[in-house]
Amino acid sequence: MAGYDFDLFTIGAGSGGVSGSRRAASYGARVGICEDSRVGGTCVIRGCVPKKLLVYGAHFAEDFADAAGYGWTVGETRFDWASLIAAKNRETDRLNGIYKKLLADSGVKLYEKRGRIIDPHTVEVGGERFTAERILIATGARPVAPEIPGIEHSISSNEALDLPELPKRVAVVGGGYIAVEFAGIFAALGSAVTLVIRGERVLRGFDEDVRESLTEALSRHGIQIRPRTEIARIDKGAGGLILTTATGATIEVDQVLYATGREPNTRAHSTAFRANTEGVGLENVGIPTDETGAVAVDEWSRTCVPSIYAVGDVTNRLNLTPVAIAEARALAETLFNDNPTKFDPTGVPTAVFSQPPIATVGLTEAEARAEVGAVDVYRARFRPMKHTLTGREERTMMKLVVDRATDRVLGCHMLGADAPEIIQGLAIALKCGATKRQFDQTVGIHPTAAEEFVTMR
Ligand code: NDP
Repeated sequence: MAGYDFDLFTIGAGSGGVSGSRRAASYGARVGICEDSRVGGTCVIRGCVPKKLLVYGAHFAEDFADAAGYGWTVGETRFDWASLIAAKNRETDRLNGIYKKLLADSGVKLYEKRGRIIDPHTVEVGGERFTAERILIATGARPVAPEIPGIEHSISSNEALDLPELPKRVAVVGGGYIAVEFAGIFAALGSAVTLVIRGERVLRGFDEDVRESLTEALSRHGIQIRPRTEIARIDKGAGGLILTTATGATIEVDQVLYATGREPNTRAHSTAFRANTEGVGLENVGIPTDETGAVAVDEWSRTCVPSIYAVGDVTNRLNLTPVAIAEARALAETLFNDNPTKFDPTGVPTAVFSQPPIATVGLTEAEARAEVGAVDVYRARFRPMKHTLTGREERTMMKLVVDRATDRVLGCHMLGADAPEIIQGLAIALKCGATKRQFDQTVGIHPTAAEEFVTMR
């Protein structure tokens, strides 16, 4: 061990890289980490955190309007995009500093340069070479877009978080997490939003009732959805960008945001969003990637090279921050604490910060039917109490999917205010194998939306 510069060298200081490195260092490992962008990675710098701050900011528009139903007279309101972005940037700067301090306080040596694997025990960082007994790849993922003519006129979520001004008209292409979240932010802040999806509904893979409820909610929030639509080209016109669809229709906007997925940061690549970056050096050690560029790993996050591991989005498993953190910590436990730990990928809850938000844990109805056969489904749709006085046409949707044979609750799904806060608790119940009977035996908290989950018949 002493023959190497480090016990562990991590490439990429995002959620996975930072948490795994710190955990390893806490067990006495000598750890180095490199990052060529900003410490904190996608989640902290250009993903979850800044996105959620914008979601909070956007929600005030609705809150001011709703206040009238409760007797408030709100004077003239004015929104300033630049102020929100500046405030958001101050917060990401603060978090960036905290992440650096956490690394320093843990004794992890940070190199703010790009890293590349040279051989199974060597990493090159900005021209300097370090040896390490083990190497962890935690380089995350980047946005991708189809290579249609004019795609260079579009932006990704990275740029959307730093636009100099709020676009008056914006097209969002894609129907996944990022697309519906940004469509909601822009619409609430006053942009005219067109959401272009190639399918019938948003959020493929989510429960059908959730998809249907969100598609309705997006329309209610003034978002114009263009289903079954593919963009063939983008041109710069006199008055804005002209999107031409595969059937020849046109849409004119001021900005077009592509949210059509992300790909692992492993290989040299040229996309609309990031030109010819250098790869991470997998070819030097013979680690294969799949067609998306993901590093193949086993359940212990081991690659086919015994000294090299990978966690987080670069492995394209469950691409969520808390999962990357859990994978990385499990690895550090295994390697440096003599405590073999595998991350359990079952029952991972997730949320989409659309307006209103969605959260879900467990199986969709279709997955449950495929897995166990007979299921009982419980649904509730109602107007949230808050909106009895505001008059707003908002609906909450909740759903439980139960295994008829065992009475176990297999899936909980919700669209409505506070859904992510509510589903987090239910995720624990599902982890514990709770039955519908146990849900029913639980006393509700009244009056809440959450109590519906324990009173469904
Ligand atoms: P997703 O993979 O979730 O969605 C991609 C969307 O783009 C789908 O609707 C897909 O349509 C569509 N699409 C793909 N290719 C094309 C194309 N060529 N033309 C038109 N549409 C296309 O990707 P995102 O970018 O939204 O998010 C990436 C990942 O980031 C997610 O998987 C998620 O794990 C993570 N994330 C998590 C968040 C959270 O936890 N709240 C927030 C943001 C991101 P179709 O359905 O037809 O394939």
